Amino acid sequence: MNCQRIVFATGNEGKMREIREILKDLKLPVQSMKEAGADPEIVENGATFEENAVIKARAVWKETGGIVLADDSGLVVDCLGGEPGIYSARYMGEDTSYEIKNQNIIDRVNQAGGSRSARFQCVIAAVLPDGEVLTAEAAMEGEIAHKPAGRGGFGYDPILYIPEFGATSAELSMEQKNQISHRGKALEAMKNRLKRYLEGEKK
Ligand code: IMP
Repeated sequence: MNCQRIVFATGNEGKMREIREILKDLKLPVQSMKEAGADPEIVENGATFEENAVIKARAVWKETGGIVLADDSGLVVDCLGGEPGIYSARYMGEDTSYEIKNQNIIDRVNQAGGSRSARFQCVIAAVLPDGEVLTAEAAMEGEIAHKPAGRGGFGYDPILYIPEFGATSAELSMEQKNQISHRGKALEAMKNRLKRYLEGEKK
């Protein structure tokens, strides 16, 4: 079977570093879709994180075969009916700064006046050489902060307050965040499933 490498359906180098670090004990090279020579048109029109992750992985797999992984993630705010959710990157427009998006979320949560519970969610999808699909999901639980804090991370990190650390996600070190993050935990779960799959293939 075609298991000499793993392709990850992203063009984001920061994400690739994090992914390579977590998957290193699979002992297979992990390539970005660009490195694998894939450039499919991806229409992320799923209704859930899972559907969108599978759409991305399948689109790349059609060009590369083998094992392809993809992720989809976002911020889910309970009192906003799960918004921005799968629209996290597109919320208020792709080009709007996160300073503005973050303040808007805080204002809307203040206005709602109830629970501030929220989380980052992530689904990792894998398409295997025979076309079978695996998925793994994880979350990083927190609350929408009363004001943004911290300079680390990206996106909505400054407004997700993590009670167990007494800090926002943007105030955590990269190591701390990787250990508890939605993406870190979902990737770890997927790694264990791929390990079992690869061991089965060798027999
Ligand atoms: P994607 O899955 O990389 O497309 O991410 C979707 C969007 O969700 C990002 O553009 C961010 O707005 C948000 N997001 C996902 N993960 C994080 C995170 O760890 N910190 C902050 N924002 C995140």
